[in-house]
Amino acid sequence: MNRRKFLDSTLKTISAASCAPILTNTLRALAPLQAPTTAPPRNANAPRPQLALTMDDPTLKLDANLRWTDANPRILKALDARNVRAALFVCGMRVDEADGSKLLSAWDQAGHQICNHSYSHLNYCGPTPYADFAVDFLKNEKIIAPYRNKTLLFRYPFLKEGDTADKRDRFRTLLKESGYRVGHVTIDASDWYVNQRMADRLSREPKFNIQPYRDYLIAHLLDRAAFYRQLAMDVLGRDIRHTLLVHYNTLNALVLPDVMQAFETAGWQWIDASLAFQDEAFRQQPKTLPAGESLVWALAAETGRFKDRLRYPGEDDVYEEPKMKALGL
Ligand SMILES: [Zn+2]
Repeated sequence: MNRRKFLDSTLKTISAASCAPILTNTLRALAPLQAPTTAPPRNANAPRPQLALTMDDPTLKLDANLRWTDANPRILKALDARNVRAALFVCGMRVDEADGSKLLSAWDQAGHQICNHSYSHLNYCGPTPYADFAVDFLKNEKIIAPYRNKTLLFRYPFLKEGDTADKRDRFRTLLKESGYRVGHVTIDASDWYVNQRMADRLSREPKFNIQPYRDYLIAHLLDRAAFYRQLAMDVLGRDIRHTLLVHYNTLNALVLPDVMQAFETAGWQWIDASLAFQDEAFRQQPKTLPAGESLVWALAAETGRFKDRLRYPGEDDVYEEPKMKALGL
């Protein structure tokens, strides 16, 4: 199932989750995170690679395992504990009711960037024409308008920036005219799929301990971070400030402190999203087709020199499914 289908099916299962039991047993049973034995040796004087957390698709309807009113403070607390500000990419249709402003206000008041992720989450590499995509982007302006920390960064749904040069370039022009920049992801991953498999498991076995899903997620994110960091160094000749993509979901709400700790143990430093997006790398506009994916992926593809290291799409469920199945997850 690709990202588009995933979101469709998520929307269908939501209505079944009228009563959301909280995963208290699971949480109590979650063992403390073990320090990975494979953490690379680090010269104390060497600068640490930096990354910011960017979170997509905040929603009032998570799944049967957690309510947004429990997820929201958990995520915000994890960020506050490290004193970093994230960028939240808001897709209007998921928060467009009275409670949505409560969800977003909590992020706004905590100083996080409130950014545009379109209203309807259309796939711009699909049949969606420019005009529809443009209207949908502008419609979402109203959703994020009330917030002090509204930030003119746009993230393409599915990281798809257009399947023709005409669509790609026309929308880039609209963004520029609207004062926007692209809220690029540099470290892409499939956290949404790990969460989806965990939710499926819990629907069959409500008392299943989620620890192996947490551990898979952390290993996956660290692996992808190392891949995109090395690729960025090979393409640009330097370490850039990275932006990690994760989604607003149950798994992340439960284990974000462990994820953040694991990155630090592996040598990374968390920074504010506003600082990350100042990196010159984010001003580049790769002319690839179909356009999109991680910014690092697209910059690498544009050179034509990294074909052996690039797959398309850059990340998706098809790469994780066999590995998770082999682990019984
Ligand atoms: Zn999204």
